[in-house]
Amino acid sequence: MEPLTEQEIRAAFVNCSKGEAKRLNVPRDLAEQPWADLDYLGWRDPQAPDRAYLVIALDGRPRALAMRASNAGSGQTRRSMCSMCLTTHSGGVSLMVAPRAGRAGQQGNSVGAYMCSDLACSLYVRGKKDAGVGARLHETITLEEKVRRTVANLAAFVAKVSTA
Ligand SMILES: [Zn+2]
Repeated sequence: MEPLTEQEIRAAFVNCSKGEAKRLNVPRDLAEQPWADLDYLGWRDPQAPDRAYLVIALDGRPRALAMRASNAGSGQTRRSMCSMCLTTHSGGVSLMVAPRAGRAGQQGNSVGAYMCSDLACSLYVRGKKDAGVGARLHETITLEEKVRRTVANLAAFVAKVSTA
């Protein structure tokens, strides 16, 4: 994806108030992110690790989500699969819950998805980060197709959150 500035990221949030978007922690090392290998940028708030965020460019427009991560306590040792990039981890998948945009979110409606806890889907798909033995399905599709599938899964999640 194309590199984004802090301002662009803050302006892209679809499911939190402008005030929250202004205050939340955006990574300070934006210049060092491996943008060329990223389909989306995801991060945890270092001061509040249950807060997770992601930003993705859809149709050339950045869209960002604020989410709550919940680690399924006793299930930590079970292998589970990220529903975005389909990487299987032992304990490295979290349920990310995003309040829906607008009134629905204010009324407590949210959308959840299982995602790589470190939000590094792009790097697992490209083999730049290793999730351990058996992490990848044996698939015959190309990297390009896997990337397209991951982006499609994320786009569907963003759409579900954005629909008021
Ligand atoms: Zn993933």
